Amino acid sequence: MNSMVAKNLSERDKKHLWHPLTQHKLHPDLLAIVKAKEALLYDEDGKEYIDGIASWYTCMYGHCNDSIVEKVHHQMQQLDQVVFSGFTHEPAVKLSEELIKILPNNQVKLFFSDNGSTSTEIGIKMALQYHFNKGVKRNVMLAFENGFHGDTFGAMSVSGLSVYNGPFEDFFIKVERIPVPTKENIEAIITQLESIVKQHNIAGFIYEPLVQGAASMKMYDAEGLNTILRILKKLEVLTIADEVMTGFGKTGTNFASDQIETKPDIICLSKALTVGLMPMAITSCTQDVYDAFYSDELAKGLFHGHTYTANPLACSAALAGIELLRSDEIQNRIERIINSHKTFGEKIESHPKVASTRQCGVIFALDLNMQMERYGSLRDKLFNHFMANGVFLRPLGNTIYILAPYVISDVQLKKIYDVIESALDQI
Ligand SMILES: *Cc1c(COP(=O)(O)O)cnc(C)c1O
Repeated sequence: MNSMVAKNLSERDKKHLWHPLTQHKLHPDLLAIVKAKEALLYDEDGKEYIDGIASWYTCMYGHCNDSIVEKVHHQMQQLDQVVFSGFTHEPAVKLSEELIKILPNNQVKLFFSDNGSTSTEIGIKMALQYHFNKGVKRNVMLAFENGFHGDTFGAMSVSGLSVYNGPFEDFFIKVERIPVPTKENIEAIITQLESIVKQHNIAGFIYEPLVQGAASMKMYDAEGLNTILRILKKLEVLTIADEVMTGFGKTGTNFASDQIETKPDIICLSKALTVGLMPMAITSCTQDVYDAFYSDELAKGLFHGHTYTANPLACSAALAGIELLRSDEIQNRIERIINSHKTFGEKIESHPKVASTRQCGVIFALDLNMQMERYGSLRDKLFNHFMANGVFLRPLGNTIYILAPYVISDVQLKKIYDVIESALDQI
């Protein structure tokens, strides 16, 4: 790799590019990645990094996975793009057949879009219009405190992590919030729910099942969630599982909703859906939801559509991913990561700088015992230590978490653990 040419990238970037979630004045320098393979990223100088968060939980089968690339390449030569309003195509039809097989079995219809935020935006619109079409006035959403559902207006409205939402809050849809359930607070939540539904016309409840990703991988009580869902179903509040982060094996089952008895009416999928190769999202729903839109009246349809809806290449990437997810090889790797994290968790939980550890499937997180130190500087110190040692982890506040690709090797996994341990010893 010619570092003169590559270095050029970081410099040239500064002229025209505006990056997401970045205050450029505070963080002017960005690392240029030139290549990725399996669990590794390579920078402009040829230095390699283990992708400990699977590039935001997308590349679960490894970067540039040969079997996926081959299938998408084949699709590229066949059909690249066609309008999905009025047309259909084989990759979408096949994907629907394969995805429905692994989704909770009350899910029967799939609505395509482009990213996680649009998948939740559509889930919210489905819930609001479901009641509207039935002539019932329900215009308030219910959500968990500290949830994250994306950055478009509807998604931002229901997200509880609102530190950066100041300029937009006047334009949000109406949302009521409840805390995530624990064994201790579930009775209080039930009482709170009774009062909320008396005072507000709740249309739908959106939640991240089992794990709240952006809220530092907060894990919560499945039984309590089931109780909440059961109550809401009785009240005809549509339940929307945002599985954008948890979907496709990360919680140890294909979907987090598989571990909860009461199934959602609507499920939002993106991120690992298209294995890091293409952006795409799906909002799935039950027959009952679909039927509320099925009518002789044109206006009762769901008039929402994105240009790249069900792009054939993205569909073929998703299909290749599902095939891998169902393979014994990947299921065994998931099992191996789960056991490996368990062993590491038992070892690290007694470290004097660790307050607590938690795990759900292949998602492992630990909280540092150092609330004293300022959030920003501690986080940056950790991040720099990880990167200097060839591991890409993205600490959230005082939480360090691992969500590595399923194809990560034992040696690479051990390197992540070692770098976390050495970070604890240094701070
Ligand atoms: C990432 C994420 C989103 C938003 O997805 P984007 O593709 O970034 O718009 C929504 N919900 C959850 C749970 C997520 O993790």
